[in-house]
Amino acid sequence: MERTIIEVAIPVPVHHTFSYLVPYRLEEEIRLGQQVLCPFGARKEFGYVVGIKKGAAKDGLKEIASIAGPEPIVAEGLLSFLRKLSWYYHSPLGEVMRTAVPLASIDRRLEKKEKVYIFERFPERPFKSVKSGAILEFLSGREYASRGEILSMFHSPDSNLKALIKTGCVRAEMRRVIRDPFKDFADRKTEKIRLNQAQKAVASSIVSSLGNGYCGFLLYGVTGSGKTEVYIEAISHVVESGKGAIMLVPEIALTPQMTRRFYDVFGGKIAVLHSMMNDGERYDTFSRIRRGDAKVVIGARSAIFAPLKEIGIIVVDEEHDASYKQEEKVRYNARDMALMRGAIEGCPVVLGSATPSLESFSNVRAGKLKFLSLPERVESRALPDVEIVDMRFEEDVEGERLFSKRLLAELSDVIARGEQAIIFLNRRGFANFFLCKDCGNVVECPQCGISMTYHRKIEKLLCHYCDFALDAASSCPKCESLNISLVGFGTERVEEALKFLLPGANVGRLDSDSATSGGLKKILNAFTEKRLSVLVGTQILAKGHDFPDVTLVGVLLAELGLKFPDFRASERTFQLLTQVAGRAGRGDKPGKVIIQTYDANHYTLRHILSGDYNGFIAQEDRLREERGYPPYRFLSLIEFIGKGIAETRESAGFAVSALSGIRSKLGFRHQDLAILGPSMAPLFRLKGKARGQVLLKAKNRDALHEALDRFTAQIENIKKSSIKVIVDVDPVNLM
Ligand code: ADP
Ligand code: ZN
Ligand code: ZN
Repeated sequence: MERTIIEVAIPVPVHHTFSYLVPYRLEEEIRLGQQVLCPFGARKEFGYVVGIKKGAAKDGLKEIASIAGPEPIVAEGLLSFLRKLSWYYHSPLGEVMRTAVPLASIDRRLEKKEKVYIFERFPERPFKSVKSGAILEFLSGREYASRGEILSMFHSPDSNLKALIKTGCVRAEMRRVIRDPFKDFADRKTEKIRLNQAQKAVASSIVSSLGNGYCGFLLYGVTGSGKTEVYIEAISHVVESGKGAIMLVPEIALTPQMTRRFYDVFGGKIAVLHSMMNDGERYDTFSRIRRGDAKVVIGARSAIFAPLKEIGIIVVDEEHDASYKQEEKVRYNARDMALMRGAIEGCPVVLGSATPSLESFSNVRAGKLKFLSLPERVESRALPDVEIVDMRFEEDVEGERLFSKRLLAELSDVIARGEQAIIFLNRRGFANFFLCKDCGNVVECPQCGISMTYHRKIEKLLCHYCDFALDAASSCPKCESLNISLVGFGTERVEEALKFLLPGANVGRLDSDSATSGGLKKILNAFTEKRLSVLVGTQILAKGHDFPDVTLVGVLLAELGLKFPDFRASERTFQLLTQVAGRAGRGDKPGKVIIQTYDANHYTLRHILSGDYNGFIAQEDRLREERGYPPYRFLSLIEFIGKGIAETRESAGFAVSALSGIRSKLGFRHQDLAILGPSMAPLFRLKGKARGQVLLKAKNRDALHEALDRFTAQIENIKKSSIKVIVDVDPVNLM
């Protein structure tokens, strides 16, 4: 007897799907993409139907318990995308589904219901109460109204409503309502921006590709060149044709400004996905997308999974940004997956940036991406002037060297002119670390082995990796000496110093300490409205913001990011500093950038000084080729996380032998697939765990995927059960 057998992806860390029988009573109802409840060991688990076939029931095959809902949770297009993603990242399909479909988005209990009043009929004789008559008149003109809506028209209407219901003229009912995410947005008239020649040319290349299947673009546009307007133009065409669009931005760029700009153009057709929304808002936003009410989905990386019915374009702004890479569970990069989803859905994909990644440039050379460029700022505004100040030759002021004379002079001028300045330092806190001058002790995090940063406002030492906190003592915790010194400085210290040095100016600070719970919006608003004239901040400040009155950007300790043991350290620093510099002079007045550093001759900073992006890319690209890194090699980092250093290293060692075996079975040589390690990670102790690693470097992707396929299939036999193994394809974080 033939039975219906389904493949179910269950969100557990196992590298295969599970087969189940469908009970006869459910055979008619089962669909691809549905959520089902399955017996799983001694418990029951929810999973997703990813395959349906007819066949003979094998022994021991269990039946599913139920179907969670008739509607498929993921449509077929999205399912093929998720399958491919699961293959690419060697991540179990069930976990991929769990990542792509937030639980809140399918939890019916989150539907918001509200009592509404519905018109039934007019009475035979008019009411005595004029108010009741008026309410009935009001209701007769619309499908229904909530009590709130009635209350906004009529004073204390409850007794009238009661009477109306009693006569049968009005009926009350519980209805589902959608929470309005834009209730704080008043409609405003905005001038329509007319694209300039360069923007038009770029937009028309993209627009003419719409509807013709997949095509990838790299849009290189300097900061302030008007990329956003180009995206809006292309997306408008897509929306007119009835299709949807995905607009990815780094989480940090999800500023009210950006949302507002899209709302001005597309109104309630936009849906914004971000990490701060509550479950109810998430549920409603997803249902607006699934039903096709929302056509333009704007969001950080996870918006790449948006369940739009038909996708006409995918845009990835600031494509080089590291925040597109998810660093937990399924380690996908939304930028790369945008290209994959575009290929599956058959639509163009635009990657935009003022500082594109070396990977994307290499894809242009390989003919995989079409190159578009906006080499100038809008309205012929100049890019800011950049100066480098070599801090080695500056003098200490009261034993410290925070600001150069040059920067202080410029700051005073800017404030005197009533303009604004941004001071950028990519380190939060007050002092970098606590040093005992008697015994040399530096207070370190007991869980991570990293020096702890002093935060004055809360009088605590914090670990920036795990948030472990210690009360800041006035003596050395080791030898009790009082001879403690605070070494290095962070944004908190800089803010304090500027308040002292610039008594007439209002100085604010924006970093992850001050940006919590509404702080971000408040501080950005204060700066936009010019209640603050100087804003000190970390990389939160670097991207996307458009403050027309900022004419000076100061960068402190520009070399900080160059010291990381990571092959992308230079590229990241270049990108970050270019973005920061790009905040200056976006309005009518020209901008200036002053970069303070102790490493003024570093090639990265020299290229920033000359504004020579192509020169930097060429030099960096050569180094990558010489040293065998992306885009010339494909990497995968295999991490081993355990309790002790010895057992973790041992596991990594077993993995290396297994991988060498796999390599020779597959007939690859060392040059095709290098296996580096076992070694301990640069942060070998993190959050109380030991971290070992093995790095794979392959000449082509197929070799990497084949080796990883075999490796993940054997993983359970290779590792001890106490060790967690993580496969990270195209790793971004090598620390
Ligand atoms: P980018 O994303 O390339 O850094 P934006 O899209 O934020 O640049 O544009 C920078 C500024 O220029 C914004 O204030 C924007 O409103 C304005 N702008 C964009 N295009 C035009 C145009 N064609 N004419 C006038 N102003 C424009
Ligand atoms: Zn001491
Ligand atoms: Zn820590």
